[in-house]
Amino acid sequence: MASAPTDTPTLPHTERPSVTSLNLRVAIVGAGPAGIYAGNILAGSVRERGGAVEIDLFDSLPAPYGLIRYGVAPDHPRIKGIVNSLHEMLDAGSLRFIGNVEVGRDIAIDDLQERYDAVILATGAIRDAALDIPGIGLPGSYGAADFVAWFDGHPDVPREWPLDAAEVAVIGNGNVALDVARVLAKHAVDLRSTEVPDNVLAGLEASAVTDVHVFGRRGPLDVKFTPIELRELGEVLDVDIVLADEDFAELELAAGSSNQLKVILRTFQAWRTRGTTGASRRLHLHFWHAPVAVLGDERVEGLRFERTAIGEDRVVRGTGELRDIPVQAVYRAVGYYGTPVVDAPFDTARGVIPNIEGRVVPASGAAPVPGLYATGWIKRGPVGLIGHTKSDAMETIAHLVTDAEAGLLEAPVVYEDVLELLDAREVAYTTWDGWLALDAHERGLGAAHVHSRERVKVVPREEQVDISRADSLALS
Ligand SMILES: Cc1cc2nc3c(=O)[nH]c(=O)nc-3n(C[C@H](O)[C@H](O)[C@H](O)COP(=O)(O)OP(=O)(O)OC[C@H]3O[C@@H](n4cnc5c(N)ncnc54)[C@H](O)[C@@H]3O)c2cc1C
Repeated sequence: MASAPTDTPTLPHTERPSVTSLNLRVAIVGAGPAGIYAGNILAGSVRERGGAVEIDLFDSLPAPYGLIRYGVAPDHPRIKGIVNSLHEMLDAGSLRFIGNVEVGRDIAIDDLQERYDAVILATGAIRDAALDIPGIGLPGSYGAADFVAWFDGHPDVPREWPLDAAEVAVIGNGNVALDVARVLAKHAVDLRSTEVPDNVLAGLEASAVTDVHVFGRRGPLDVKFTPIELRELGEVLDVDIVLADEDFAELELAAGSSNQLKVILRTFQAWRTRGTTGASRRLHLHFWHAPVAVLGDERVEGLRFERTAIGEDRVVRGTGELRDIPVQAVYRAVGYYGTPVVDAPFDTARGVIPNIEGRVVPASGAAPVPGLYATGWIKRGPVGLIGHTKSDAMETIAHLVTDAEAGLLEAPVVYEDVLELLDAREVAYTTWDGWLALDAHERGLGAAHVHSRERVKVVPREEQVDISRADSLALS
């Protein structure tokens, strides 16, 4: 998984004293699922060995949970069970949440290395990977990650989103493409009971969309959708799923394929048999379409694709046949790109922090940086579900504990509490109690809402910070 070689790493000896027992101070950068799992596993692991550990969990956002709060679609409440268990981990008292602190801006990674035995980077991903085709920068061409951040109420994106296009294209064949297509196609009324922010609901209510086209460059046997995500498309009210017979010429190849793929193909077959019902919106799934260019002068007017086909060698290639499809907006859902940390190693080609099984290495072939680790999407790239970040964290923490027991970590040289530094720099950090206050506030807004919703998210950062810090400000 890592971009560096896999031989057993040896950490360089340093002049500074090393940690001899498991009494550790550890900073984790990123309070998404990866950071929280890492902290929880570390606390348990050190406890089992009779040691003690203080763990500070920093996040640049005022609230915890990373992409669970700002990535997972609002109509996916089944994720709630995971949130509850992450909540319990944070509430148990072994991890100290410190939000609204961007490492690399409010506090340097050096500041952390001076104060902690180890630093774990769990910064995940929030931006889109690039799709380098002509016209991709035209007005009306958007990154899926930006749209997701908008409909999930991320504080750092604009509040308005132009939804004036009747025909929309989504490029990509993964779950994010499906989330984007589903939210675009769904009638706003069917999102009312979710935690979608009010400005988003108003934007979706005004949407002019009639047809959402999802394009994959490979065939229906090669989709990256999970069956459950795919199936729920068929349950969206007043939206017909449209498939083209020409895309399904190869279904006999499904014989011997995985159970997951069989479920996906059964879902496609059911939709093909069902046909359309005259719904007011349509969601078209196209396969064998490789995007070539976004068309338009002043803004998006269409998309040019090259039809693809699979060879006997199972390689998908262009056939030379070009097709232009009129759309007024394009969303590229071709993957996320990891979030680097200032002054930490970063592999710009892969968008990850280079590492060997979680030990950060400055460059391919180099020895690991003592006491610096990575976990989650920033460790192995932005793929996989929340559950995968747990196994990631187990691997990273196992190495951290081994290194600590081997005396390979450098002990802190500054012992003051990091909060003193943040106070001196006038950083308006938030705390776990602050999150509990914000959480209660959002649930209160939901309960009071005319449609009685579980939560209404507070979007502006300053407002989140003010609510989170209200108690501490009242005391000071
Ligand atoms: C659109 C979308 C939908 C998804 N839906 C599902 C789903 O339905 N089910 C599922 O299981 N998985 C889903 N996933 C996948 C899931 O979100 C990821 O597996 C998981 O969030 C990765 O966790 P992470 O902690 O590595 O990263 P993240 O969740 O990205 O968390 C990283 C955290 O680090 C913080 N951070 C970044 N830089 C800094 C810095 N310099 N200083 C301080 N903090 C920083 C960020 O603010 C963020 O809170 C979805 C992903 C996306 C993108």
